[in-house]
Amino acid sequence: MSDWLIRGAALPGGEPADLRLAEGVIAEVGSRLDGTGARVLAADGLVALPGLVDLHTHLREPGREDAETIASGTRAAALGGFTAVHAMANTDPVADVAGVVEQVWRLGQEAGYCDVHPVGAVTVGLAGQKLAELGAMADSAARVRIFSDDGHCVEDAVLMRRALEYVKAFGGLIAQHAQEPRLTAGAQMNEGVVSARLGLAGWPAVAEESVIARDCLLAAHVGSRLHVCHVSTAGSVEILRWAKGKGWRVTAEVTPHHLLLTDELAATYDPVYKVNPPLRTAEDVEALRDALADGTIDAVATDHAPHALEDKETEWSAAAFGMLGLETALSVVAEAMVATGRLDWAGVADRMSVRPAQIAGIAGQGQRLQAGAPANLVLVDPAARTVVDPSALASRSRNTPYAGRELPVRVQATFLRGRPTVLDGKLA
Ligand SMILES: [Zn+2]
Repeated sequence: MSDWLIRGAALPGGEPADLRLAEGVIAEVGSRLDGTGARVLAADGLVALPGLVDLHTHLREPGREDAETIASGTRAAALGGFTAVHAMANTDPVADVAGVVEQVWRLGQEAGYCDVHPVGAVTVGLAGQKLAELGAMADSAARVRIFSDDGHCVEDAVLMRRALEYVKAFGGLIAQHAQEPRLTAGAQMNEGVVSARLGLAGWPAVAEESVIARDCLLAAHVGSRLHVCHVSTAGSVEILRWAKGKGWRVTAEVTPHHLLLTDELAATYDPVYKVNPPLRTAEDVEALRDALADGTIDAVATDHAPHALEDKETEWSAAAFGMLGLETALSVVAEAMVATGRLDWAGVADRMSVRPAQIAGIAGQGQRLQAGAPANLVLVDPAARTVVDPSALASRSRNTPYAGRELPVRVQATFLRGRPTVLDGKLA
């Protein structure tokens, strides 16, 4: 593997510097480093961030390889600046036993575009009836630490309590998809003024907030760690602020789309905007941006949810929930958080790399760019603007809500342990 010398990249919160990558680590950081024997990448005007870490990705393999594969999804991840992703368990078969999580982990390694950490199911078959073999998944080669029935809520409070207790033994984490199912039966979009106008069944904020409140209390009661997936309402933010104020071990994520898009888009009846949890109001978007800025929400997670054409290009009520996210995440965060002055690049590095890596407990990711750190990094052109072209995406699916929209920044290069996965904005 050849050495690389990255010349003149701006480090978040610091001066432009040269970085020499060798043997998978950042060997040296300084000015005018000697490039002898190394491949040189001119990075004037580019910002260097630690490689992004996604806590919430749907890679669809095994089972729905027509929508995404581990190879295509991780190519999309690398192009988006990610060096690690967490693959959700709602595959077919469900990732609820050691054999499936090991298969996902191994396919990620074979693809080689970014680290793939499988998320294990909390309950057998995501059915919410019986705890899955959490210990066996934790002890497997995939070393699973995050468990989630994502797509489904762990509704039963007794099961949720037992899951939280169980993972304490090995430092695991339960990531909850907070959705009270009876309050959302048949729901199609956010419940509010727009749903009333459109005549679509509403999805009330309380369906999310009531589960988050219950689970914060449960996590505190058993002294375990809770992570809240894709927080989408202002009320959820208030509950998290309260729980964190108590010193409870609760963390939370927000998706890029919930930081930028609102339920007004449902008026198009274009199912590309149909997502779970639903797009909310402009007031919710403001509250989520503030919460990410002040750290009440710890991390951005994409909830990248590829869907085959036939599942998405149909009438609204029949269409699947979910939208693509990996290749546009950094651009959307730049638009929602950097362009609005809420986060600087150091803040983006924290919310999209450092904190998610800490939450997941993955060594080697989310580390400051300094000598001795693993050479996982992304080079970003902060001045570039790109019009999103669905046909140019590496994902196997096309359900991006940003088609034709111009967004800021561009990922120029991504390095995974010193090896480029992306160069000049293209797969290396
Ligand atoms: Zn979910």
